[in-house]
Amino acid sequence: MVITIEPETPEQQIEAVIKKLNEMGFDVHRSTGVNRTVLGVIGNTAAIDIRDLKIMPGVADAYRITEPYKLASRSYHHENTVLQIKDIEIGGEEIIIIAGPCSVESREQTMEIAEQVSAKGARALRGGAFKPRTSPYAFQGLGEEGLKYLREAADKFGMLVITEVMDKDQIELVSEYADILQVGARNMQNFTFIRELGKAKRPVFLKRGMSATIQEWLMAAEYVLSGGNHNVILCERGIRTFETYTRNTLDISAIPVVKKLSHLPVFADPSHGTGIRDKVIPMARASIAAGADGIMVEVHNDPDHAQSDGAQSLYPEQFAELMVQLKTIAGVIGRKL
Ligand code: PEP
Ligand code: MN
Repeated sequence: MVITIEPETPEQQIEAVIKKLNEMGFDVHRSTGVNRTVLGVIGNTAAIDIRDLKIMPGVADAYRITEPYKLASRSYHHENTVLQIKDIEIGGEEIIIIAGPCSVESREQTMEIAEQVSAKGARALRGGAFKPRTSPYAFQGLGEEGLKYLREAADKFGMLVITEVMDKDQIELVSEYADILQVGARNMQNFTFIRELGKAKRPVFLKRGMSATIQEWLMAAEYVLSGGNHNVILCERGIRTFETYTRNTLDISAIPVVKKLSHLPVFADPSHGTGIRDKVIPMARASIAAGADGIMVEVHNDPDHAQSDGAQSLYPEQFAELMVQLKTIAGVIGRKL
C-alpha cells in the first residue's frame, strides 16, 4: 500500500500516520521528495479499511498496489488452474459445456434432456433440485428426489452433475449426488455459507452476484480457497444495470478481466445473463470468443411448459446448432470442443 502526503504537511501529522500503521503491525518505508512525502506500507494490508487512512490529516491519497485477494490471484498462481473432475478437465484446452433444464421436474424430463445434450457434446448436466425462487409460491424444486434423477441421468449418458446448493446444511446431501456444487448469484456473499464450502469435498461453481463487483466476486472465491477448497470455477451470469430489455446485462468484458486477474476457470451463463431465448446463442458465442473456459446453458425438451425459466431455455435443436457454432469459434481461438 502506498500513502501520499499533502505538500506542507506538518511533521507531527506525518508521524501520526506512521504511528497508526506501526500500531496496526506494519513497517513503513518513508521517502521524502522535493515537495512530497510518500509512505510505503510493508506487509499484508488486505484487512485494512483504506478509508481509515484516507481521512487522516495530511493524507493526500492511499491505494493498494496488490489485490486484497491472494489465493485467487494470478500473481499468486501464474498458470491457469485446470480442475480434473473424473475424466473431465475444466480450464484446460477443451471448452466445457454445461447444459440442462433450469429445474429438475421429473425423471423423464431429466433423462430426455440429458440424452439430447450429451449427444451433442455437453460434458455436464445442470438442473436445480433446490431452487432459489423470488416468489415463495413458485416451484421450489424436487429436493433429494431431483438429485437422484440428475445422478441417474448423468451416469447413464457419461456426464458430470452440477446443481445448486442453497444452504450450508445442504452441502453434505448435495455432495453425495453432485460432482460440482453451484453457488447461486443470490448467495455469493452469504459468508457463513461460502466459508463452509471451503471445507466441502466438491469443486464450487461460484456465480457472480447480480450486483457484485469483480473484486467482490474474487473475494468470495477467496473465502472458499482460504478454507482449503482449491477447486473453484467462476461464472459470469449477468449483473443488474439500468437496462430493462434483458433480464440482466451479461458482462462479457468481465471474462477477459477475470482471466487476467485470476488463474481460476471462468464460465459464462448466457441464459440467466439475458433471460431471452433468442439472445442466448449470440451471447454464448460472444462468451467463448471472449475467452470463457465454458458455458452453462439452459436447455429444455419442452420449454413452453417448463416449471421455471422456459423463456430463456433453448430447444434441443437450438442447442445442437449452438454446439456446431461454438466448435468453429473454439478452433479459431486455438481451443477444442
Ligand atoms: C441457476 O443457474 O439455476 C440460477 C438460479 O442461476 P443464478 O443463481 O445465476 O440466478
Ligand atoms: Mn434458471
